[in-house]
Amino acid sequence: TPAVEFRDVTFSYDADRPALRQVSFTAPRHTHVALVGPSGAGKSTLFALLARFYDADEGQILLDGIDITRQMSIDECRSKMSLVEQTAPVMHGTLRDNITYACPEATDEQIQRVVELASLNGLVRRLPEGLDTAVGEHGDMLSGGERQRIAIARALLPQPSLLLLDEPTSQLDAANEEALTRAIAQISRECTLLVIAHRASTIRAADTVIALDNGRVTDTGTPEEITARR
Ligand code: ADP
Ligand code: ADP
Repeated sequence: TPAVEFRDVTFSYDADRPALRQVSFTAPRHTHVALVGPSGAGKSTLFALLARFYDADEGQILLDGIDITRQMSIDECRSKMSLVEQTAPVMHGTLRDNITYACPEATDEQIQRVVELASLNGLVRRLPEGLDTAVGEHGDMLSGGERQRIAIARALLPQPSLLLLDEPTSQLDAANEEALTRAIAQISRECTLLVIAHRASTIRAADTVIALDNGRVTDTGTPEEITARR
C-alpha cells in the first residue's frame, strides 16, 4: 500500500477553471517525491487537499490505503502529516520553544534528534546559549534558510509518517543550501517526503519526480527520465 495515492483528483476553487484535473500518482512509503512545475501548476493546491484545507470535487486521496475524506476525520488525517510552508514563522522565545511549540513535553533526546534531522547543529553551536537562545526577539539573527529548517524540526517532532515541504524559491547561501540538501536526504530515510521542489539538488535526489502543468500531471519518472524528456 502506498503512503499517498491520488486517484483522478479534480478540484476547482471556482467554477471556470480547475486547479487540479484528474491528478493520479502514488508515493510509496519512505520515498522522496518531488513536485515540479511552473507557478500556478497546482502544486500548493495538491498540498492543501492532502491537509484537508479543501476537499476534492472528484476522485479519491488515500493515505496508507485509507480515503482521507470518506474514512478519516480531519484531525486523524492531519495527525499523520506535517506541513512546512515556504516562509516559516519564528515565534518569540528560545530556539527550543520554537522547536517544541506543538509538543512542549518533548525530551532533550527527541529535540536533539530533530535538530540533527533538520541539519541545525551548526546553528545551535553558533548561538550564544545554544537551544536556550532567545531567537524570537532577534528574528534577524536567523537567515531565511535557518528559519525554514527550524520549522522543519518543529514539523518532525511529532514523528509524522508524511512530511509536506514547500521548498524556498529564494536563493540560499552556500551553507544553507548544503544544510537543506542534507536535511532532505536525512528526512527521506525516516518518513515519506513530498516536496514542492525548486532547487535542482532536491529534484536530483528524488526517487520520483511528478511534473504538473495547468492542473494536470504532465510527466512522472526518475529525475533522469524527467530531465531527459523535458
Ligand atoms: P528556469 O530557470 O528556466 O525558470 P528552472 O530550472 O528554474 O527553469 O525551473 C522552473 C520550474 O520548473 C521550477 O520551479 C521547477 O518546479 C520546474 N522544474 C525544474 N526542473 C524540472 C524538471 N526536470 N522537470 C520538470 N520541471 C522542472
Ligand atoms: P502552484 O503551487 O503550482 O504555484 P497553486 O496550487 O497555487 O499552484 O495554484 C493553482 C491554480 O489555482 C492557479 O490558477 C491559482 O491561481 C489558483 N488558486 C490557488 N489558490 C487559490 C485560491 N485560494 N482561490 C482561488 N484560486 C486559487
